[in-house]
Amino acid sequence: PAAPASPSTEERAAELYTAHRQSIYRRTDRVFAILMAVQWVFGIIAAVFISPRAWSGATSHVHPHVWAAVCLGGAISALPIFLALAMPGHRVTRYVISVAQMLWSALLIHLTGGRIETHFHVFGSLAFLAFYREWDVLVPATVVVAADHFLRGIYFPQSVYGVIAASEWRWLEHAAWVIFEDVFLIASCVRGQKEMREIAHRAAELHSAKEAAEAANRAKSEFLATMSHEIRTPMNGVIGMNELLLGTQLNDRQRKFANTVKNSADSLLTLINAVLDFSKIEAGKLELVQVEFDLAVAVEEVVEMFAQRADKKGLLLACHIDPAVRYPAKGDPDRLRQILVNLINNAIKFTEEGEIVVRVTLDGVAADRATVRFAVTDSGIGIPPDRVDRLFKSFSQVDASTTRKYGGTGLGLAICKQLAELMGGQIGVESTPGGGSTFWFTAIMETIARRGNPAAPQHPSTTTTAQRPEVTGARVLLVEDNEVNQMVAAELLSEAGYVCDMATDGRKAVEAILRVPYDVVLMDCQMPEMDGFEATRIIRQHESNNALPGRTGRLPIVALTANAVKGDRERCLEAGMDDYLSKPLHPEKLVATIQSFLSRAVIAP
Ligand code: ADP
Repeated sequence: PAAPASPSTEERAAELYTAHRQSIYRRTDRVFAILMAVQWVFGIIAAVFISPRAWSGATSHVHPHVWAAVCLGGAISALPIFLALAMPGHRVTRYVISVAQMLWSALLIHLTGGRIETHFHVFGSLAFLAFYREWDVLVPATVVVAADHFLRGIYFPQSVYGVIAASEWRWLEHAAWVIFEDVFLIASCVRGQKEMREIAHRAAELHSAKEAAEAANRAKSEFLATMSHEIRTPMNGVIGMNELLLGTQLNDRQRKFANTVKNSADSLLTLINAVLDFSKIEAGKLELVQVEFDLAVAVEEVVEMFAQRADKKGLLLACHIDPAVRYPAKGDPDRLRQILVNLINNAIKFTEEGEIVVRVTLDGVAADRATVRFAVTDSGIGIPPDRVDRLFKSFSQVDASTTRKYGGTGLGLAICKQLAELMGGQIGVESTPGGGSTFWFTAIMETIARRGNPAAPQHPSTTTTAQRPEVTGARVLLVEDNEVNQMVAAELLSEAGYVCDMATDGRKAVEAILRVPYDVVLMDCQMPEMDGFEATRIIRQHESNNALPGRTGRLPIVALTANAVKGDRERCLEAGMDDYLSKPLHPEKLVATIQSFLSRAVIAP
């Protein structure tokens, strides 16, 4: 027995049931409207063929049957057709149709001179009426049949039984057969209704279950956003402070400890990022960006990142890029890098000697889309064939003992698979145990016609400080409520040569901005008193009223947020912020972002 359903499920089931019944009524009404018209035409044709003319002496006239078919038939059919069109689904319509249908039986029986075969029309009609799945429509029908047989049996037996005189109980015999059929039809109607009720109930339950699942999923996403915020904020403190510590005078022992903290914090952050990525993908919250970038350069950069590590292990790391893919493409370079980093990382991890080759080839081109194939081949330990299908599932590793030896979470390939699929591609592996593996994936990218200087790689997503005029001494307002984060950011900013002021919430930030001409504002999103979104909106309002001191252009506001969840970026931009940095703050990224705004202000006329 199922748990008692919530009232809303019951209500929904009742609604669905009513709607289903209504649709059956209306459909059956329509069918009867057509049947009524057809019977009318058929009745006239039958009358004309059977007894076209009546003779009295030498003169003939149209037989009264023909007139009966035309006039009576019309009278019987008109009302139900009208009601079926004007009031479909209504109870009255059903009852009128039920009566009219049996009157049609009576008329047809009369027109055929009481032929027993025509009596079958009664049984067919009853069965037809059962299409309503309402046993009560059979009641008026049965009453009409019984009454008709009874009355005509007395006054006009020839018309109903085809004989001059009939037994006065014959109508009962006919009525009994009708009731005999009714019993089965009623049973089938009752069962039909019961089934409809069950179907409605099941649909309502499914609906409720779906709603509950969606609510749970939403809760999970919210939990995820909070987790992301809560974990990244202290991590920001740990990594940032340690970074500062490493920059001070330390003895060897202290430096070793601080480096260990750095390594552990880095791997913890990697792990958190993997878990967050995975949950974000699961919650459908990961969206790929579509930016223009140079595919070959992106791949080469990733390979370069691993050069040192491969070298240390004595491995040869090579990269072959098909010239066909050496043109700017549109896609998500960061997520592409993420997959490559994972595959190359694994390849190095599971290879003791030999080489690792990264190959990028063109798989196919269709219109403005290219399918690019990336393959990472290693000469490592390989994977037993029976384990291959488990690789791309979450939290699975070929051999649990490798975790101890090589580390890892078993999440990497699962994320790669999801990312490759988000890019419209696939992922796979070919491997021989002991002979090495080739992990490959494909991605569909929008191709962009080469324009301007083909040699110049396009990097819209990354800004390097080197390309921009250095601007120091700029005045930055840091709006941040967390003390550790304040210290970290302030230290980074003053190291980079900026003058840094601090505001601990949105309200204080607005006050400061109305007094001091800042060059850039770094705005935390979640703060007590007034959050970053609202503060930004207010600042933008003052700005449009020209109330900000010493400014002509737009004041750059960069969001600092620990929530790396889909929709955050949009929320920031919507509130009037210009850019977005996620915590933990990456020193180089922070400076590059500030510089990009400052140099814009310098370049601008
Ligand atoms: P992680 O490496 O974090 O454990 P992955 O999902 O990236 O998680 O990899 C899952 C498992 O697949 C690894 O633990 C390892 O057993 C196997 N594997 C991945 N890449 C290779 C490779 N190049 N050679 C051999 N085994 C591999």
